[in-house]
Amino acid sequence: MKIAEKYLWFGSGIIIGGIVISLILIRTAATEWIFFGKSPRPIFAQAADLQRLLPATPELSKKCKQILNPREIWQPADKTNYGLRRPRDLADGRIPNQPSVIVLHETVLPLDPTLKLFSTPHPNDNQQLSYHLILARDGSLYRIVADEFRAYGAGWSAWGDSTIRHRGSKIPAAAGSINNVALHISLVSPLDGGGNTDGHSGYSNQQYSQLAQQVLLWQLRWGIPMRRVTTHASVDRSHSRSDPRSFRWHLFDRAWQVAAKRCNVNASYSIDARSR
Ligand SMILES: [Zn+2]
Repeated sequence: MKIAEKYLWFGSGIIIGGIVISLILIRTAATEWIFFGKSPRPIFAQAADLQRLLPATPELSKKCKQILNPREIWQPADKTNYGLRRPRDLADGRIPNQPSVIVLHETVLPLDPTLKLFSTPHPNDNQQLSYHLILARDGSLYRIVADEFRAYGAGWSAWGDSTIRHRGSKIPAAAGSINNVALHISLVSPLDGGGNTDGHSGYSNQQYSQLAQQVLLWQLRWGIPMRRVTTHASVDRSHSRSDPRSFRWHLFDRAWQVAAKRCNVNASYSIDARSR
């Protein structure tokens, strides 16, 4: 073999080898991204315009709790209906798990069957459901799942473009959910709110008042700005949820201002807070 020919074979070998290695690397990266949702950055950093969390102030939350004095009635969910806030996905990638979004719901069912639903064991994945708190018509607050755990309040869901996948995408529910970072509270629907109507007569003053207080306490405890307080209808991506129907934000805001004033909370937690 001539020397020039040898160099030609050698050079071609290097080029072909380089292409093969590049293809393998690109494929591996794409597979990890698609199947495990692995991201080089924390997933919630993808939304650049998302308002950042405030510093958590559990002491302030405790103090405010003493002032507002909400009474929680302990009605624990069966352990099949909630889980751990997962620190990692199945591919061992780090995923966000700190409570950082507050999601409002309505029960559609009356109070008693709702409580019974959560205390009933549901071994089947598709039937598992829970909220952290339920708010009755008279303003009574039922604690179903502790904040530190993951309640199953939203199925396929996202906050802006951000969502969390913790298992393979062959499972439909793994299209992503925000449960890992969500705090869920559900308002008991009025009597005319059963079924699938577009709207109903709305929520009681006691519910707005107690809801505003609870949202404020959560905001203080976990450092959550008001722009991360949202509804199931807004975060749902399955096109099957529209709750809480007939919810009026201006009534909520008015009740929130009253609670914030009682606890002397500054404007950084309100809807008027400037984004940083
Ligand atoms: Zn809901």
